[in-house]
Amino acid sequence: MAKLTARSEDYSKWYNELVVQADLAENSGVRGCMVIKPYGYAIWEKMKEELDRKFKETGHQNAYFPLFVPKSLFEAEEKNAEGFAKECAVVTHYRLKTDPNNPQKLIVDPDAKLEEELIVRPTSEAIIWSTYKNWVQSYRDLPILINQWANVVRWEMRTRLFLRTTEFLWQEGHTAHATSAEAVEETEKMIHVYANFVQNFMAVPVIKGLKTDSEKFAGAEETYCIEAMMQDGKALQAGTSHFLAQNFAKAFDVKFTNKEGKIEYAWATSWGVSTRLMGALIMAHSDDKGLVLPPLLAPIQVVIVPIFRNEEQLAEIDNVVFDIKAKLESKGISVKYDNDDQNKPGWKFAEYELKGVPIRLAIGPKDLENKSVEVARRDNLTKEVQPLENLDTYIDELLKTIQTDIYTKAKDFQQDNITKVDTYEEFKKVLQEKGGFISAHWDGTPEEEEKIKQDTKATIRCIPLENPLEDGVSLISGKKSIQRVIFAKSY
Ligand code: AMP
Repeated sequence: MAKLTARSEDYSKWYNELVVQADLAENSGVRGCMVIKPYGYAIWEKMKEELDRKFKETGHQNAYFPLFVPKSLFEAEEKNAEGFAKECAVVTHYRLKTDPNNPQKLIVDPDAKLEEELIVRPTSEAIIWSTYKNWVQSYRDLPILINQWANVVRWEMRTRLFLRTTEFLWQEGHTAHATSAEAVEETEKMIHVYANFVQNFMAVPVIKGLKTDSEKFAGAEETYCIEAMMQDGKALQAGTSHFLAQNFAKAFDVKFTNKEGKIEYAWATSWGVSTRLMGALIMAHSDDKGLVLPPLLAPIQVVIVPIFRNEEQLAEIDNVVFDIKAKLESKGISVKYDNDDQNKPGWKFAEYELKGVPIRLAIGPKDLENKSVEVARRDNLTKEVQPLENLDTYIDELLKTIQTDIYTKAKDFQQDNITKVDTYEEFKKVLQEKGGFISAHWDGTPEEEEKIKQDTKATIRCIPLENPLEDGVSLISGKKSIQRVIFAKSY
């Protein structure tokens, strides 16, 4: 296996190599679309499982809506349509036929032109709200709390495995409510659900905040987001939750009779996280040896590697390991015993380091004599010898410690790389020399935001929700400001 490029040498190259070498995903023959390989998909499945549990716990149900959106529905909510127009894949025909000039080839059949073009969904508000029209008549029909697990297509120009692909997997929540207050509450609730998942399961600290008007979702009144810091100091938008007000209800005529007998438009939210989370997970923790996975999302939590010279030794080790494995599994820990005799232990060690397995146990004849085992941690690469007695309890605890330690390390990194600045000179200097997130005053205008973006490529990632009020003056216009916002270069 080829050695990974070091992060310090070329962070972006390191990432691309790691995704491929760790067998998570690869580029496909289709531009901008990836193949998610079984190991990568296993991690995504663990993410889905926990998110799905959290959605159901907060009262949501799963449903499924069509992949295609008729153009007339798509354009009904103007801002949304305009925002996504440049990224839409459009189906115009429904049939191919043999090329009369070349029987080996197929061409689009001009006689099979669709009467109305179909948009491959870049997001599903239009198709879903055109359906809600039939579901909502009275306040008793509300709220509707629905989530869909699906694929979407956005014709992205610059693609990166997991971080930005043309087709991606995601979940999209679409809820309808009787009041504005209820919809706002839902929007906020879901951004907290995401933050909770990303921090406690992915072990990635995030800043919760609001997007500025220029960065918010097309068709939304407010966009809440969580922003994570990668090891190169860049920001990654890890999830969004939108308060859509009555925009979609008005576009699709979703009305209901309220308790007082008056007719009103329903209030909407939508929220989503995608396979981009895989990119966040990889970029936040991994090192030059490969992936570092938090135990709660690792498909294999413990790998056991036997060290043996001959079959008799292996047979003795097998006996002990089968017992260890059974005990660990009875505690709900996923274990792989790699007693394959094709590869040497050193090769296996490197392989499981690359794959980010949180704990490796190595056991040889000496360990059998001493009734002990070597325990190696992937996150900090430390090793120690532990007695076989009560090993299951020890490993169970160690997995929890690793989960916390990975989070703490990422949190410390995040804190060390948020810099407060008060002048534009300082801003540019920090951005160039240190990078990371910059906390600074902004005058609230799109003009100043755009000027900073043009000058430095840094954008306002969010106006943090937990933000102390503080008097200051903005970076360029010098106007009064009452709070700092977070700037960063981003993925
Ligand atoms: P949005 O609907 O634009 O708010 O996006 C919902 C979620 O999908 C956000 O968490 C985005 O970070 C993520 N996302 C947006 N575009 C892409 C893409 N091209 N590839 C992967 N994830 C994406």
